[in-house]
Amino acid sequence: MSGATPPAGLLDCVLASINLGAVVLDGSHRVVLWNDWMGRHAGRPADGVLGRDLFELYPALRGQRVHSAVEQALCNGFRSLLSQSLNKSPFPLYADAAAAARGERLQQAVEVTPLTVADAGRHCLIQISDVSIAVARERLLREQAMVLRSQTFADGLTGIANRRHFDVTMEKEQRRAKRGGSALSLLMIDIDNFKSYNDHYGHQQGDLCLIQVAAALAAVLKRPCDLMARYGGEEFAMILPDTDAAQAMLMAESIRQRTIELAIAHVPGMHKEPCITVSIGIATQRPGAALDAAALIGAADRALYLAKRSGRNRVESQPPV
Ligand code: GH3
Ligand code: MG
Ligand code: MG
Repeated sequence: MSGATPPAGLLDCVLASINLGAVVLDGSHRVVLWNDWMGRHAGRPADGVLGRDLFELYPALRGQRVHSAVEQALCNGFRSLLSQSLNKSPFPLYADAAAAARGERLQQAVEVTPLTVADAGRHCLIQISDVSIAVARERLLREQAMVLRSQTFADGLTGIANRRHFDVTMEKEQRRAKRGGSALSLLMIDIDNFKSYNDHYGHQQGDLCLIQVAAALAAVLKRPCDLMARYGGEEFAMILPDTDAAQAMLMAESIRQRTIELAIAHVPGMHKEPCITVSIGIATQRPGAALDAAALIGAADRALYLAKRSGRNRVESQPPV
C-alpha cells in the first residue's frame, strides 16, 4: 500500500512541470493555486497573486466568457470549454518578454472545471493551454487552400477565369436568376480568323494576342457579379447576371469596339479589317424562364455562328428565351 502513495512534494513537482496553466479559485474568486507555467507566461509569480481576487488582478476579464464560466462552475457545478474562435486570448499571457513587449498574446484554449473540496466548499480549476502553433498551422492551411482554389479557377495563360470557373458560375447564376426572377445574359466571343494570325506570326505571338484581348475584355466588366472566362482556345464567354437583351447588346458592342481599339495588326490580306477583331453571339434568358446552362450556351453559340456567317466583326443575338 505504501508503495502506491506518492512521495511528499510530488504533486508540487508535477504542477510546476506541466506545460499548461493551472489556476484554482475559491468560492470568492480568490486565487489559491497558480502554477509555474502561469508565473512564466503572465509575468506574475505565485506569491504576487495568491489570495487575491482573479477579477481584481485582471479587471478586463469581468463580464467576459471566462467570468461567466467561473460563475457557472462555482454556482452550478458546470464545466465549460471556451470556444477558441470566440475567445482567442482572454488572459494577458505571452510566450516571452519580447512577445509581451509587442503585445502578442498566446492563443489560448481555456477550460473551467468545478472542484468540490472536502470541508472547503466549491472551488474551480482553470486550465489554459497554448494553442498558438495549432492556430498558426490552421491559418497556413486555410491560406494554402485559398491559393490552390484560385489557381484551379484561373486560366494558366491569360489569368482570367477558366472553363471550370465558368461552369460553376453559370450553374450558380442560373439558379439565382430562377430564384430571383431576373434576366441572365451570356456572350460568346470568338477571335476572327485567329488561325491565320497564329500560322503567320507563330504560336508565341498568338499567345500574346490572347493575353492582350483577355485583359481588354476583362477590363470592360463593370459589376463584381459579371464574369469573363476563357471558354477554350480563342473563345471567351461573359456571364452577365440581371442583364436583359438590350443591355447585353450594349456590352457586346463595347467589347467589339474595345478589341478594335487594341489595334493588334492582323495578317495583311487575310482579314477584312487591318486589325484583330471579335465576333459575338448573345443569348438572354428571360426572368422566370426554366432553362438549363446547356440551352443558354447553345443559343449563344448559334448567335455566334450567325455573326461569323454574316461576315465577322459583328454582334448577333438570339431572341430571348
Ligand atoms: P473564325 O473566325 O471562324 O473563328 O476562324 P478562326 O481561325 O479563328 O477559328 P479556328 O477554330 O479555325 O482556329 C482557331 C485557332 O486558334 C486554332 C489555333 O491555331 C488557335 N488557338 C487556339 N488556342 C490557342 C492558344 O492557346 N494559343 C495560341 N497561340 N493559339 C491558339
Ligand atoms: Mg476564331
Ligand atoms: Mg473558335
